[in-house]
Amino acid sequence: MPEQARIIDGKAAAAELRAGIGREVAAIKAARGLVPGLHVVLVGDDPASRVYVASKEKLAAEIGMNSAAHRLPAETTEAELLAKIAALNADDAVDGILVQLPLPKHIDTGRIIDAIDPAKDVDGLHPINAGLLAGGKNGLVPCTPLGCMLLLKQTLPSLSGLDAVVVGRSELVGRPVAQLLLQADCTVTIAHSRTRNLAEVVRRADIVVAAVGRPLMIKGDWIKPGATVIDVGINRMPDGKLAGDVDFAEAVRVAGAITPVPGGVGPMTIACLLRNTLTAFHARRGA
Ligand code: NDP
Repeated sequence: MPEQARIIDGKAAAAELRAGIGREVAAIKAARGLVPGLHVVLVGDDPASRVYVASKEKLAAEIGMNSAAHRLPAETTEAELLAKIAALNADDAVDGILVQLPLPKHIDTGRIIDAIDPAKDVDGLHPINAGLLAGGKNGLVPCTPLGCMLLLKQTLPSLSGLDAVVVGRSELVGRPVAQLLLQADCTVTIAHSRTRNLAEVVRRADIVVAAVGRPLMIKGDWIKPGATVIDVGINRMPDGKLAGDVDFAEAVRVAGAITPVPGGVGPMTIACLLRNTLTAFHARRGA
């Protein structure tokens, strides 16, 4: 049998994380009669967004959180959406607010995110939370990067001093995950579409985080033997199946540990959303 990397089971890790949050929610309810509340706002009827919102609602309810989805028509104006957010900001029973992206084109996404109370911004995208993260002080951290870090910490005994290469520099994934790796004392390189000799850069890494959105771009011979590979990419292939940004079939024979797609980072994202809701609850209403 050829050697094979350890497969990092994101589905199991996410289930365990949700179970722990569920126990905490039950304890809060028993001790204080309070229930943390997650509110998701969906504008329009994008089919993928509808599925994401339904599963956020379902998983929040499963662990005993209050959850509500506010489904607004595609023609909702920016002013109407801002009014909805203002109402949720003002409602003390609302601990977490998430506006499902992408928004219809006539709405300025930045303006909407800026309007969310940073203390309830469970997606971690508000400039105050992004600024705190850049300064090494965590407010609410974006869910997918948080999920990547939890998987890395359960896989590696220590991250300190390791060379980490993040491929992708989006506000949603690449940048925040790089900040979190830096906080964990990794030596961090952020690569992007203008990076020269990307294969060489990736080959230096003890930890590779791929967040590009290009199927199977990172090849097995780009991976340093024994490296830990976290594949954030979710790409729909012509045969309808999902694939990551890493060529899994090749990389699994070189890496020390690797996340599959699906079943790696994906399930951690919603579990971290629930965790952020609990974090926001504690910060607002006291631990
Ligand atoms: P973006 O499109 O916002 O960012 C992609 C990044 O990849 C950019 O920084 C871009 O560089 C870089 N890039 C593009 N082409 C290349 C290239 N040829 N070589 C090197 N870098 C390149 O995507 P996101 O960060 O939002 O998402 C990335 C992937 O992760 C997607 O597949 C998305 O579906 C998935 N995703 C998965 C989640 C999950 O829960 N698992 C959650 C969120 C996203 P530049 O800045 O120079 O343009």
